[in-house]
Amino acid sequence: MRYLPIHIDLQNKTVIIVGGGPAAEAKLRTLIKTDARLVIMSDTPSAEILRWADEGRVEITDEAAFETATLIYAATESPADNLNIAEKARALGLPVNAADQPAGCDFITPALVDRSPVTVSIGTEGTSPGLARALKSDIESRLPSDLGQTAQTIKGLRDTLKLEEPDIAKRQAFWAQVLGSGLGDYANLDSEVINARYNAARHTAITSDDRAGYVHIVGAGPGDPDLLTVGALRVMHSADVVIYDRLVSEEVLSLCRREADYIYVGKIPGGVSTRQEEINRIMVETAQNGATVVRLKSGDPLVFGRAEEEFAALDAAGIDFTIHPGITAATAAAASLRHSLTVRGENTAATLATGHDENGFAELDWTALAKPNARATIYMGLRAARFIQGRLLLHGANSATPVSVVENASRANETILSTTIGALSDDLISSGIKGPAVVMIGYDVRSVRAKMKAAS
Ligand code: SAH
Repeated sequence: MRYLPIHIDLQNKTVIIVGGGPAAEAKLRTLIKTDARLVIMSDTPSAEILRWADEGRVEITDEAAFETATLIYAATESPADNLNIAEKARALGLPVNAADQPAGCDFITPALVDRSPVTVSIGTEGTSPGLARALKSDIESRLPSDLGQTAQTIKGLRDTLKLEEPDIAKRQAFWAQVLGSGLGDYANLDSEVINARYNAARHTAITSDDRAGYVHIVGAGPGDPDLLTVGALRVMHSADVVIYDRLVSEEVLSLCRREADYIYVGKIPGGVSTRQEEINRIMVETAQNGATVVRLKSGDPLVFGRAEEEFAALDAAGIDFTIHPGITAATAAAASLRHSLTVRGENTAATLATGHDENGFAELDWTALAKPNARATIYMGLRAARFIQGRLLLHGANSATPVSVVENASRANETILSTTIGALSDDLISSGIKGPAVVMIGYDVRSVRAKMKAAS
């Protein structure tokens, strides 16, 4: 290890940045988060730097007194100038960083994950900035955004405990018990949880067995892992148990914590299914055993996912839960069609409807949906397609109205059938589309970037 990572206190200290262009701006994006007084030496500062100066976050000067500084950054756009500045700083005994000039660097600024006061710095000693960025984004996704606040809560509790428990070894053991270990726990580590665990541990000797379980209801999106939220990914890494549906893709599932228990609760349309009551029971029981449960549901859990029944079961059992929204099939499919779900001046509503409900084919507001410019995305609409077509035509829809059927939206095997209300059910049959698919009334395809399935 050639470079030692250290954290320098910059409160009430001056940092001088020589340069006012992109190189200086890049350094400033990190420096501006510190408490340092930032002095920029430049006669041509960029618009962004001027804006920071207007906000009072930096000072701009023609000539700065190096000897007043704790750190110097030589960040002009000229490598030769940067080396000269570095020499000047070194002559004064000041640590300097010359942009893109390893020979002019006494220190380097690492890639940072900032949850101040918690910071994680990542350095590769200049070998691979790309690797540093990849590590940063991985760590970013794992650490909750309020980790800094959690650290402040812990500090307050530490101060209290110090007064109550003089034995340092006992205090350390206590904190190991409260904070747990390993990445898995971070997702749940907010101030509320810390306070609760602290109190529990102070009054009873808690063991990991009577830790309260928790459920995360997580939107897995339509299949492409790129469509997961950062929060979803974080709790997926923390799962003890993953309860997942049929339409959750392999790629998404493989991003859950490897050591977790996986429980499949798929419902096959018209086939063998896990009953909703059974799903609720499994979810409640695993949480009651103290597990962090990730209930992974396809798309957005709040769209045709029977989520309300799961919430009711959790409420009844007194189990706390968080909902992590996901990308629903309609928005993913619209993105594939390269169309907006709502178009100004055309449709004032974009209906999300189901082709099926507990009584069979769903009766929708056909009068509204048959109107010109009406737009609707129908989930579970394949088997109901002929019925939907018949109802729309009966209510006066124009048979030439475009309809797109998007199958496996966002997945590698995505297909799009481009048809009309009049030809919908015949074209569906000849296309061989099996689903999962959404039937999008009033939507055509903007372009052929996606693979098209032509009706024969
Ligand atoms: N909660 C899910 C919907 C569950 S209902 C969501 O928000 O997307 C199941 C229906 O969703 C399927 O019958 C199909 O109509 C639709 N669906 C789910 N994933 C899909 C995908 N990748 N492409 C197209 N439709 C999909």
